[in-house]
Amino acid sequence: MGEEDLVDLAIAAVVQDFDLAHRLREAMRKGIVEETRISIRMGISQQETRKMLYMLQDANLAHRVRVKETKDGTKHVYWRINYGAVRDFLRGRIEMVRRALLERSHLEENVEYYVCAADPSHYRAPFDEILMEFLGGEPPSCPVCGALLEPADRSRNLDKIRNLLSTLDRIEDALLGEQE
Ligand SMILES: [Zn+2]
Repeated sequence: MGEEDLVDLAIAAVVQDFDLAHRLREAMRKGIVEETRISIRMGISQQETRKMLYMLQDANLAHRVRVKETKDGTKHVYWRINYGAVRDFLRGRIEMVRRALLERSHLEENVEYYVCAADPSHYRAPFDEILMEFLGGEPPSCPVCGALLEPADRSRNLDKIRNLLSTLDRIEDALLGEQE
């Protein structure tokens, strides 16, 4: 993966749109670029452009370099992409996803879940949530189709999580491995 792809990816993670991210990077490739120019190059409104740039600034991926005011009072705002922060940003995002997955696998290992016996995608609840129904003498049933609930197959979920974690490791290696 090339440097430019990494930049696109980081910007896309912030603006939630890969095509927009790519166009923004292209529009800013000359270094320090004026805000109006960026919006003209991208063919989007100045408001949208500004919103994206401030989101990137919050993520430390862009810097507002300077503001120049002309005699008629018009403000010209200049921006540049903070290329140096791209790898750390991506590493941080990967770490966020990894933490969420580990938390999920911890739950999977320690909490017994019940699912709809007819279709597990209908309903899924931890045991303590349906405990009252058990105690009330009614076998807990699926709120979608009425089928009985049964203990979820946790090994399958754990396998899925393990697969996702190793995929994440591979992505991290592919993305950020060959540097430094
Ligand atoms: Zn069901």
